[in-house]
Order: sequence, then C-alpha cells, then structure tokens
Amino acid sequence: MIRPSATTAARPIRVRFDAGALRHNHAVARRHAEAARLWCVVKADGYGHGLARVVEALAEVADGFALVELESAIALRKAGIRQPLLLLEGFYDPKELPLFAEFGLTPVLHRLDQVEALRAAALPVRLPVYLKLNTGMNRLGLAAAELDPALALLADRADVTLMTHFADADGRHGIAEQRARFLAMRGERSLPVSLANSAALLRYPEARGDWARPGIMLYGGSPFSEISAAALGLLPVMTLESALIAVRDISAGDHIGYGCTFTADRPMRVGVVACGYADGYPRHAPSGTPVLVAGRRTRTLGRVSMDKLCVDLTDLPKVSLGATVTLWGEGLPADEVAAAAGTISYELFCAVTARVPWVDA
Ligand SMILES: *Cc1c(COP(=O)(O)O)cnc(C)c1O
Repeated sequence: MIRPSATTAARPIRVRFDAGALRHNHAVARRHAEAARLWCVVKADGYGHGLARVVEALAEVADGFALVELESAIALRKAGIRQPLLLLEGFYDPKELPLFAEFGLTPVLHRLDQVEALRAAALPVRLPVYLKLNTGMNRLGLAAAELDPALALLADRADVTLMTHFADADGRHGIAEQRARFLAMRGERSLPVSLANSAALLRYPEARGDWARPGIMLYGGSPFSEISAAALGLLPVMTLESALIAVRDISAGDHIGYGCTFTADRPMRVGVVACGYADGYPRHAPSGTPVLVAGRRTRTLGRVSMDKLCVDLTDLPKVSLGATVTLWGEGLPADEVAAAAGTISYELFCAVTARVPWVDA
C-alpha cells in the first residue's frame, strides 16, 4: 500500500502517540512489581500502537519484551534490541527453532511435544525456556502430570521458568484457585516463576513472581471494568482525534445515518466527524457513545459508517466546523468508549487501521 506521511494527510483524522505517557505507565508497573522484573507485552504491534514506536519509547527501561510474532521478535533483534524477548505462544513448527537459537529468543512451551521437539532439535546454544502450566484457564499449558516429564527432557539443556496465566484476575474469581494449583505443581522446585498480567500485578502482590507481564496498563488502559485508568495512575498513550467536516440543524422527526436508527425528538444540531469503522472506530458503538468535541463531552448519534460518524452538538452552540473531535484518549478514556460499545480498550487500540496517520503527542 502506498502510505502518505502524516504531515501531508489532508483528512483531519490522526492518532497521537505519547511516549512520555507510556514511560510513566511503565514506571507505575515498576512500582507495583517491586523487585520483580517486567516483560513489557508488545504483541499485536504493541497493542496497536506500533511496535517500533513502543519499543523505542521503552528501550531504556524495559527488562524484556513479550510478543507472539516471531518475525517481529527477529525485527527487534535486527534493530539492535538486546533485552530478552519472550515468545508467548512459543514456536508453531519445530522448523522455527534454529531462529530462536540464532536470535536468542525465549519460547513459551505449552505442549509436551514441543518440549520433545526442542530436545530433538539439539540446538547449539542453551535456550532459556518458559514452561506454561495450565492452572484453570484451559487454553494453553501443560497438565500437572506433564511437568515432571517436561523437566526431565529439559534437564541440563535449558534454563526453565514456570509460568501460568490467570483467567479472571480482573474479576470475581480472582487468582486464588489458579495460584494454589500453580504452587502445588511447582512443589519444592526453586525455579523462577512468571504469573501476573496487568490485572494481577495491580491487584495481587502475591502474584508478582520473578517476572510480571503487564500489557494493557502500559498503554493506559484499565484492566478492571470498575476502576478507571486515572484512579490507577495511568495516562492514555493513544489519542484518536479528528474534526467536524459538516454541521447541520435537523428537525424533530428527522433521522441520522444508515438505517435511520436515530430519530430526533426535537430540533437538534448535528456534527459530522471524519472517522468511521474503516479507521478502527467500532461500528457497533451505539447512539450515545461518549465523544469530545472541542474538549466538551457529548455523544454519538446514529450508526457509525465507514468514514464518518455523527455527534450531538445541540448543547454545544459555540462549536463550529473544523472543531477538534477526540474519539478516545486524552480527556476521554478509551475504557469508557469501549464500555459503551460493549468491548474493551484492548480491542479499540488494536483496531486502528493503517489509513490513520500517527503523530507524536
Ligand atoms: C497478552 C498477555 C499478557 C498481558 O495481559 P494484559 O491484560 O494486557 O496485561 C500477559 N501474559 C500473557 C500470556 C499474555 O498473552
């Protein structure tokens, strides 16, 4: 795709990236981690913020980076990143193993046959490996009975860390049951451990382990539906903004947008924003989703279309054509927009599309 630069883009939509906010959030994670080290989770292109941008901002402070894409990990090595790199889904095919050795990557092994394949590969270097244990998420991980065979296969061949992943650290189940299973599986072994995502790191000091794995909190999203990012001391890293490209008055009974899903019950003033689902704004965001126009809070009206959405200016008489519109970010937490749209900030961040130009905050 031919990608014009942000400075020449005519359409007013932009996504602003605040590297200082990212470092601030990392410092918050660091305070919660105390002596534990931090994998900065940068999978999915740094939760949609741009891998290079995120890694560059954190390069001086990160203990390591965790991601799922092998080609991205290799690109980081080639760009001179020296920290440990953790591949959260490990390898998909044993053919990838020589690349783990060549680039010094740490695989998460979550099936016993992967442990066997690693042993069979007889790599020329001793790799650090993470053994993922299934403690109740029931997605990836070894069963309790597989741990001893796995450790026997790896004896003298790899430096092993034990990890697990919590299903509901942000919710009512908490971590107690999974942590108890993990501790029982670990037994008397003195191997290092990695347990905590953002929610567990923020809520459960006992889950810090040796290496925590914060993701969303680095980007200024709250992992908890009932606690705001601001209350956690986190700052937004991504601000999606655009501008009003039309303003009109409508009468009671008039509809707005495709499907005529919104009908005015009184005379209204409506703004049209150059932002739609092809920019990554969620199409399922209903009328009433919060939005800022010239720094004032209002709501969306009608269906989100591919390139446009409409906002209510009825109570903002001074706002005019060209006014800045914040879809989420500074002044409007992505978590609130996500909640209104029935999703989570993670999904909003990852959804911003390639046609939106990035600028530094
Ligand atoms: C994505 C991921 C994380 C980070 O989770 P957040 O909720 O974003 O903090 C941690 N661990 C694993 C295994 C992950 O896949």
